Amino acid sequence: MKKHLKRIAASVSAICLAASFCSSMTASAALGFWPKTVMTKSSDMWNSYRNTTIHLDYCTSKDDYQDYLYTPGRNIRVVSVSHPNRYTISANKNDVQKLYGSDYNKSQAEQCAMYNAEQTYDFLQNNGYNLGIQLYVAVNPYTTYTIDGSDGQRESAWGETDTVYFGMGSNNPNKENAVTFLGSASDVVTHEIMHLVTDKELGWSSYGNNTPERNALMEAYSDILAELADSRNDWKIGSTLFLHNSSTKNYCLRNIANPAATNNPVSPDENYCTTYQQFTAYVNANPYANNHAAVGSTVISHAAYLMHDMGFSNQTLAKIWLTSLSKYNKSTAANATFSDCKDAFFDAAVEVLGQTGNRYYMAQVFTLMEAFDEVGVY
Ligand SMILES: [Zn+2]
Repeated sequence: MKKHLKRIAASVSAICLAASFCSSMTASAALGFWPKTVMTKSSDMWNSYRNTTIHLDYCTSKDDYQDYLYTPGRNIRVVSVSHPNRYTISANKNDVQKLYGSDYNKSQAEQCAMYNAEQTYDFLQNNGYNLGIQLYVAVNPYTTYTIDGSDGQRESAWGETDTVYFGMGSNNPNKENAVTFLGSASDVVTHEIMHLVTDKELGWSSYGNNTPERNALMEAYSDILAELADSRNDWKIGSTLFLHNSSTKNYCLRNIANPAATNNPVSPDENYCTTYQQFTAYVNANPYANNHAAVGSTVISHAAYLMHDMGFSNQTLAKIWLTSLSKYNKSTAANATFSDCKDAFFDAAVEVLGQTGNRYYMAQVFTLMEAFDEVGVY
């Protein structure tokens, strides 16, 4: 969904409103936002979007004994989108959706998005990264503009400061590129949450006037962690979204295992790059194209796929990629290059693999680095 991911990033604010709440995830910090005393609950419930039973954590307020989609331990809340214009949109943080308080499709979507956000939170936590913010998950039913027959927000997902937004899916399910609820795809949810992470850690919050390489890196980190966290682990982004998908169409937003073979019905003619040389040639030939981030991201995300293909576990790779965020030079991160990414990854790999006790860990590090050679990043 190149177009939508572009629009997503273009609107992201550079201001981290969550910064003042980042210090802890304790109950008292949460209570500052949530003036209710709650009982944490969980249950197994059927979800129509995932077509399976999900185990969902949520809570009940002792004030009104209503169920709310909020988990104090993770500080995640599902909120309603209160304004149809995405450019002035704000999640209404006083209007938390009640668990059973809305129409069936929307309540199913909210439960599904909550479940996926909890899964992402736990994956990051289990691999050494504490999200450290009050995370708002907004389910967005609005369609505010139409471009090329697009359903706009309903077909989009994006992350902004402390909130991830997920559209309810195409109004017209018959068109070839119709999508279902964006928050139903585990990898899309992780992708958007990772935008909040790279914003928080490196200030990568919008495309703006930043270089094509830095913008591509921002997309790549979101895609890489999305696949490492995804139990499907098919190295395709959004492959569960398209209503008309089939074994022969193989629709997805990006095919990381084989970027050139991406079959994205939203932008069928896109040339997703596999090597740095392909990307620089594309940028030089199309300096004003607005798809640099999307088509360049696959250079780095494909390197991550190659590392997976070498037999390294998702957990090991996730720890290294997440640790690499702390290895960039903060003063130059605003225009980080693919080469900077390689250096940060190297430092992170030495640290993470060095802690395993494997006496041959440096050999493992150099094996991993071969993936950067394969995509032409030196
Ligand atoms: Zn993105």
